[in-house]
Amino acid sequence: MTTSDSKNKKANQLNVDVVIFGGGIAGLWMLARLRQAGYQTLLLETESLGAGQTRYSQGIIHGGTKYALTGKLTASSESIFAMPQIWRDCLEGNGEVDLSSATVLSEHQYMWSTPSLMSRLSGFFASRVVRGRMVAVKKNDRPAVFQNKKFKGKVYRLDEPVLDAGSVINALAVPNVNNIMHIKSMTDYYDNNFKVTAANGDIWNIIAEKIILSAGKGNADLLKQMGRSNPEMQLRPLQMVMVRGGLPEKLYAHCLGASVNPRITITSGEDKQGNIVWYLGGQLAEDGVQRTADEQISKAKKELQSLMPWLNFSDMQWATLNIDRAEPKQKEGQRPATSFSFEEKNIITTWPTKLALAPNLANDVLKQLEKQNVSKSAAMEMPEFSHSSIADLPWQEEDKWQH
Ligand SMILES: Cc1cc2nc3c(=O)[nH]c(=O)nc-3n(C[C@H](O)[C@H](O)[C@H](O)COP(=O)(O)OP(=O)(O)OC[C@H]3O[C@@H](n4cnc5c(N)ncnc54)[C@H](O)[C@@H]3O)c2cc1C
Repeated sequence: MTTSDSKNKKANQLNVDVVIFGGGIAGLWMLARLRQAGYQTLLLETESLGAGQTRYSQGIIHGGTKYALTGKLTASSESIFAMPQIWRDCLEGNGEVDLSSATVLSEHQYMWSTPSLMSRLSGFFASRVVRGRMVAVKKNDRPAVFQNKKFKGKVYRLDEPVLDAGSVINALAVPNVNNIMHIKSMTDYYDNNFKVTAANGDIWNIIAEKIILSAGKGNADLLKQMGRSNPEMQLRPLQMVMVRGGLPEKLYAHCLGASVNPRITITSGEDKQGNIVWYLGGQLAEDGVQRTADEQISKAKKELQSLMPWLNFSDMQWATLNIDRAEPKQKEGQRPATSFSFEEKNIITTWPTKLALAPNLANDVLKQLEKQNVSKSAAMEMPEFSHSSIADLPWQEEDKWQH
């Protein structure tokens, strides 16, 4: 790896083995794994780290249980079953990356069903995937919201963790901060050679043996700038809902619905003043893209009022967030079953498709680099350049609370 003086505004030169575009969960997990494996790796980020989908995620480390709802388990969806244990090892400091400083919001999630759904779900609870993973929870052991006398459904516990996405980004970024450059733009791409303008205005001429695109929604523009039309991307929009004020406790729970998607998925966080926030996704967020923000809030209120009528709704404050999931294009816009990587002429385009699948994606990419004998240059300090900060979580930004 070679460098030149970064103080003057002429192009500085930086040669690395691998460049990664995008500092969400995918890019940061790969950065950590590739550096450990001995590749001189540089990550480029245009915003703050985690600023894309990652900070909007509900932080659920799925193990695939919900695929059993459809009864349509495929070989590829089985890759997700191993994920909770891989993450747990990392959280304990014994895994492939060190997440021991990350925050586990909950060791398990709850699933609850309404009485009308119980008979239709009997196949689900009897299935091979679900047996041993989900246990029925006795009334006294349930979260307080489900101990109310008016609650008539059943509650199950699923031992898959829920994480604070911001703390995961932090845990991955801090040890690798010197290898992360905050950039404004990329220009003059030719083969494996391109220029970037760093956030402080410095110009860097970068040469890399491999380029990895993990820029989420930004992959499409990067591919275009690089003269590529493959792979194609699909966007699946969501309108998520946040609510605070008068909430009894933090909750991590899915209300089972009639489809593969939970009717509503509730995870929790805290705003800057320490108030509990419920973050609402699931079918509510998928269907919500057809609604205005006011209509979506009104729908969310009705859903909670019908599912938990005993809550005090008078002090609640609401907000919605529009965010697209970026994924490889699928037939009829379906959700992909596993993580995705595609290589064409030294550019590897990636989408993890789920936070939980970031380890799977990094493994696939690493195997590909090893198979192709990509160079591992001698270790060298990175030069000084602009670094990216870490994005706030949406509920911590006061201007998002418009209602
Ligand atoms: C509302 C919501 C809830 C979700 N909940 C869950 C969940 O509970 N569990 C789960 O497993 N998955 C969940 N997901 C999916 C998961 O969040 C995503 O699959 C994952 O975060 C994608 O990570 P990523 O790193 O590919 O992309 P992103 O997080 O989008 O990161 C891409 C990064 O690239 C940067 N970038 C863009 N353009 C450029 C460029 N030209 N140059 C350099 N950098 C660039 C962006 O600023 C961004 O930081 C959820 C998704 C959403 C939207």
